[in-house]
Amino acid sequence: MSTLREARPNDLYELLDLAHSDGSVELEEYLQRVVEKALDWFSAQGISIFLRNGGTETFGLAVAHGLLSTVPSDAVISDGQGIAGVAIAEGQPRLLIDPTSDRDLARQGIERKETIGSSLIIPLMTRNAGCIGVMNVARAAESADFSESDLEAASSLGRQIALALSQYRTLVAAQTQKYELQSAMDLIGFGLLMIGPGGRFQDFTPEIATILESSPRNHLTVATYFQTINPNFQRPLNLGIERAKKNLSYRFRVDDPIRHVTYAAVTAPMQNGGVIVAIHDITEHEKARGAIDRIQRLAEIGQLTASIAHEIRNPLTGIQSAARMIIDDPMLAPEFGEIIEREAGKLNQLCTEFLTFAKPLSLDFEPIRLSDIGRRVVDSMKQEFHDERLRVEFRISPDEPILYADPIRVEQVFRNLLKNAIDASSPGQLICLEIDEQGIAKIRDQGIGMEPHIVDRLFTPFFTTKPNGTGLGLSICHKIMEAHRSTIRVNSVAGSGTTFELNFNVKGAA
Ligand code: ADP
Ligand code: MG
Repeated sequence: MSTLREARPNDLYELLDLAHSDGSVELEEYLQRVVEKALDWFSAQGISIFLRNGGTETFGLAVAHGLLSTVPSDAVISDGQGIAGVAIAEGQPRLLIDPTSDRDLARQGIERKETIGSSLIIPLMTRNAGCIGVMNVARAAESADFSESDLEAASSLGRQIALALSQYRTLVAAQTQKYELQSAMDLIGFGLLMIGPGGRFQDFTPEIATILESSPRNHLTVATYFQTINPNFQRPLNLGIERAKKNLSYRFRVDDPIRHVTYAAVTAPMQNGGVIVAIHDITEHEKARGAIDRIQRLAEIGQLTASIAHEIRNPLTGIQSAARMIIDDPMLAPEFGEIIEREAGKLNQLCTEFLTFAKPLSLDFEPIRLSDIGRRVVDSMKQEFHDERLRVEFRISPDEPILYADPIRVEQVFRNLLKNAIDASSPGQLICLEIDEQGIAKIRDQGIGMEPHIVDRLFTPFFTTKPNGTGLGLSICHKIMEAHRSTIRVNSVAGSGTTFELNFNVKGAA
C-alpha cells in the first residue's frame, strides 16, 4: 500500500497554470510552490531540489526546505555520484532508509542523519529534455518510513513536477528572448512594425512614431492606424505589406512642403502569419552615394580622356607626316595617300569603339539562336581565318535553346572574341565555337594564353598588349553582357590557350 497522497488534478493544474502565467513569477517563488505541493503529496517534512546546470552533467541546489534545509547552498550532484547520481543515471526513484546499509553510499562516507527516517530520491524526467533535475523528499525519524510501493507513485509524481518545472523554464526562456528582442529593437534605430495575423499591431519601435508622425496603439488595426498617418506613406507601405510574402526590399521618396526624404523599406512574412515592416531614412546615405558616383564617373572620364588622347595621337602623327610628304613631293600622293587612308580608318574604328563603350546601351531583344549568329560572324571573317591559316570548328548542341537577346550586340561580342582569338593564335591552330544545350557559348583558342596579371586587367578600358590594339574590345563585350544581365568569364593558361564563356541569362525572358 502506498502511503503517498494521490495528486488531485487541481493541484497539478495549479502547478502547470503557474508555468503558463506571464513569466512574472520568479523561479524561487515558483519552486516554493512546488515545495509546498510536494511536501503535501509525499507527506514529507523535508525536501531538496537540484536542477541541471544548463548543458552539463552537474546539478546545482535550487531549493532546500525543512529537514533538508541544512544542505549547503553550493551543493552539486554529478551524474552517477552518490545515491542521487545513481537515481539520475537510472532514471528511476530510489528509496533510502539507512544510508549505512547501502554499500555504494557507505563507501562514499554518507552517514545516517538522526532526524531523518527515510527518503525518496526522485529524478525529474521529461520526455524531451531527459533528466532536468533531482528531488529528494525526506520523512522525519518519527514518521512512517517510505515503502517500496511508494516508489512507483513517486516516479509519476516526479514526472508531473518535472513537466511543470520544464514548462516554467521554457516560459522564462521565451520571456528572456522577448526582452532581448525588445532591447535589440530599441537599439536598432529603425522604424520597425510587427503586424499580427489579424492586421493588429504586435510590436513597434519608437522610431515608427517619429517617421510616421503618429504613434501606433496596440489595440488598433493597421488599417485604422494608416488613416492617421501622412498620406505619402500610405501607398508605399500598403504595397510593401501586401507583397511581404516575397520579402520585398524597396525605396520610396516622400516629398512635401516640409521634407524631401528617401526611405528604404523591407517587408517580410512572420512565422505566425503576420508581417514585419522595417523603414529607414536613407536620405543622407543616398546623397553621399550620389556624390561618390559623380566623383567616380569624373575619374573614369579623366582616365578615358587621357587614354583616348594618346590613342588619337598615334594615327594623327602618321597622317600628319604622310601629308607633309605629299606636300613636299606630290608624286608620292598615291603611296602616302594610302597611309593616310589607313590611319584615318584606325581613327574611325577607335571612334566607333569608343562611342559604343561610352554610350548607354539600349537593347532590342529578339528570339535568337547563338549558333546562327556565330556562323554568320565566322563567315564574315573567312578571309582573316584563311590569311592566318586557322581552322574553325563548330560544336553546336542539337538542343541549343532559343534565347532572347539583341542580335546586333551579340554579333559584336562574337566578333570581338573571335578577333582576339585570331590575334592570339598561330598558323595551323584551331579555334572552336561551342554552344551547349543551356545556351552557354564558349570560344576556345589554342593561342598564346595569358598570365594571371593580364587576366585581372582584361576588362579595363584601353588595356591592351597589342601595338595596334585599342583595348576596348573586351570592355565592350563586358558592357554588352552586363546589359543582358548575363556574364562573360575567361579561363586562360599562358602558352596553351584561352576560353571565353558567355552565359546568357535571358532564356525565356519576355
Ligand atoms: P585589344 O584586342 O584591342 O588589345 P581587347 O579588350 O580585345 O583589346 O583585349 C585586351 C587584351 O586582352 C589583349 O590586348 C590581349 O592581351 C588580351 N587577350 C584578349 N583575348 C585574348 C586571347 N584570346 N588570348 C590571349 N590574350 C587575349
Ligand atoms: Mg580585341
